[in-house]
Amino acid sequence: MNATLTVLGSGTSVGVPTIGCDCAVCNSTDPHDRRTRPSILIEYSGRAILIDTTPDFREQAIRERIRHLDAVLYTHTHADHLLGIDDLRPLSYQHRPGKLPLYARPDAAAFIRNMFGYIFAPAYKFGGLPQLELIEISGPVELFGAKFEPVTVIHGETEILGFRFGSAAYLTDHSQIPESSMARLKDLDILFLDALRHQPHPTHSTVENSTRIVEVLQPRRAFFTHICHDLPHQATNAALPNDVGLSYDGMKLDFEI
Ligand SMILES: [Zn+2]
Ligand SMILES: [Zn+2]
Ligand SMILES: [Zn+2]
Repeated sequence: MNATLTVLGSGTSVGVPTIGCDCAVCNSTDPHDRRTRPSILIEYSGRAILIDTTPDFREQAIRERIRHLDAVLYTHTHADHLLGIDDLRPLSYQHRPGKLPLYARPDAAAFIRNMFGYIFAPAYKFGGLPQLELIEISGPVELFGAKFEPVTVIHGETEILGFRFGSAAYLTDHSQIPESSMARLKDLDILFLDALRHQPHPTHSTVENSTRIVEVLQPRRAFFTHICHDLPHQATNAALPNDVGLSYDGMKLDFEI
């Protein structure tokens, strides 16, 4: 079935421009160089699935005119992927008397439940709570006729999730992709990879490393995300191979799910 992927945010954890920075990219007038925190939206047959709730979720949802959400998938619980959770409120109310389902690895679900006790603890008496339900996943999950398959990646010293859905895969925050996961990323139309910058980083991939991953996996189209202010959009893209590019906020791609 036809699906659309929208890049809600393509930036690294501090966003671009970065607070207090006067570098050329942070001062750029190219809108592609304005990067909110990393997240995507997947839409098909009237359904909308969000991956991660960044601190910029409210701004992203307003920019893209998100009218409803059917589920949220979490890659991991770092602040840049999680802290917009409270801004799910208006969209979660549409699910009343039910709740908006959030899918996460068991360790991530436990962290979220603990960190946001006011959302998940029934004793809270101040009203205005997001209506959310945490569902632990340890394998593929079927959402409204489409299969979302967790793909484990290594992010520094921890295992986190990427997701494959139909002919597309989204891997943010990885320093390494285990062989067992590489095997599940064959025959892709679209592949998103982490490419923080050129210089090596202990928990993130680089432009060079992710370009090598693209050469091995050979997706039809590859896009980089979680980009910091070291990478000017136009100049970086010009130096990348054909069919590989930096993603940018607001980018929309059609694919089969
Ligand atoms: Zn991140
Ligand atoms: Zn900067
Ligand atoms: Zn992270």
